Amino acid sequence: MAPEHPDLVIRNGLLVTASETFHSDLLIRAGKISAVGQGINADGAVEIDARGLLVMPGGIDSHVHLQYPQGPHRVVSSDDWLTGTVAAAHGGTTTVIDFVEALPDQTWMEAFEARLAEAAPQAVIDYGFHMAFNRVDDRSLREVKSIIEAGISSFKIYMAYEGIRLEDDGILRALEQLKACGALPLVHAENHALIRYLTRVHHAAGHTEVRWHPHAHPAAGEAEATYRLLTLAAQLDIPVHIAHVSAAQVVDVMHAFRARGQQVSGEVCPQHLLLTEVLYDQPDELAMRYVMAPPLRSAADNAALWQALHEGLLDCVVTDHCPFTLAQKRGARRTPEFRRMPDGSVQAMEPESPWAERTPSFDQVPGGVPGIETRLPLLYHFGVRTGRLSLPRVVECTSTAVARRFGLYPRKGSLMPGADADLVLLDPERSITLSATTLHQNCDYTPFEGWTVTGWPRMVLSRGEVIVRDGQFIGRPGRGEYLKRAPYAFATHC
Ligand SMILES: [Zn+2]
Repeated sequence: MAPEHPDLVIRNGLLVTASETFHSDLLIRAGKISAVGQGINADGAVEIDARGLLVMPGGIDSHVHLQYPQGPHRVVSSDDWLTGTVAAAHGGTTTVIDFVEALPDQTWMEAFEARLAEAAPQAVIDYGFHMAFNRVDDRSLREVKSIIEAGISSFKIYMAYEGIRLEDDGILRALEQLKACGALPLVHAENHALIRYLTRVHHAAGHTEVRWHPHAHPAAGEAEATYRLLTLAAQLDIPVHIAHVSAAQVVDVMHAFRARGQQVSGEVCPQHLLLTEVLYDQPDELAMRYVMAPPLRSAADNAALWQALHEGLLDCVVTDHCPFTLAQKRGARRTPEFRRMPDGSVQAMEPESPWAERTPSFDQVPGGVPGIETRLPLLYHFGVRTGRLSLPRVVECTSTAVARRFGLYPRKGSLMPGADADLVLLDPERSITLSATTLHQNCDYTPFEGWTVTGWPRMVLSRGEVIVRDGQFIGRPGRGEYLKRAPYAFATHC
């Protein structure tokens, strides 16, 4: 039987790994990298000329929210598993890790199976999940083991947000169980009480416009929560990964704990590296586009994040892709909810009552920005071309380090023989002006509208299959595979 996809040999490219760059050919057989070297003999293989291109391991975005019903109103993020993963592929991302968040009446396993059933027929690239540790009781603590066995070896802990957050005693019990079973905590660190208090104070003063959003989410609250989390984690001697670090104060806290021997790592998003809080100082129609938590901060914070990324304290660049259309941001209308029917199918249900046609108060605007497609080009342009980061460092923090952190290495994030042939052939001279009208994200704005970046993928391969060529997606829905991830070696007993 002929293989579905022929052998490929990529010649004349500049290979880029997390540690070096070198000119070499690369042979792909049966979806895997099978040889790397000069002048590979590849009879029968399809030749790809990568002259002038960078050949890099495919990007891994370990923080995305596709088809995600957010908050009490369950407003669904506007990219589903098809549009979101197609957009990711266009931008050079070949693996995503999304989240499973169980409803009160669901077991974690039921929630996982439902999420898998949404993703499987649609995803065009490989994907995995983090489990939201959104309740601490005997049932959930017992489920940790079976969730890990199902391939989910990282758990998201929210320190803020009603209905999902854990209190300190819950965090300790969660960390204790994760340590025992060998799963990594990924933590959204913000001080919940402070957000609530400041939101109330601003509401009482009649401050409902979006410009007040960052005032309710101060960097000090993020730093305090990070300090508290690391204090708890240190008692249990468990490594932790801090989600979407946005502020210099948080970097300082992480530095201090790392200096004392605590294993702490963190992720940073392009929006927190490149945009600042002045964007909130606009009319709501514009400012609402940047509502996210943590919010955008100052230029000094941007600089501290670049520095931490350069030094390695922050090791993953992720997007926290959670797009909402302008209508959703305005609250003019809810998107359909996706509901699981008794026969197992997923159907979009129209909401019963559309929201009022007005901008809600800042704390009611769905939080999140699109970014799944623009991560690697932004990092290449603003990292490599400006001299902030080396080319290998960009590969490391968009792919290799993410694979290592989340148990996917060396299957993903590597150009070594045996690795999945997930590759980006990046044209370092191709300039693109970013616009919602030409990006593939299912969102009618991008926070980077009108920005020109130089460096864009010319070809993207997933397990040896060319899925994007010259700006055209040529893969097929459902070709993406679920990635089971192994538990971490720090497990004690489970
Ligand atoms: Zn997120």
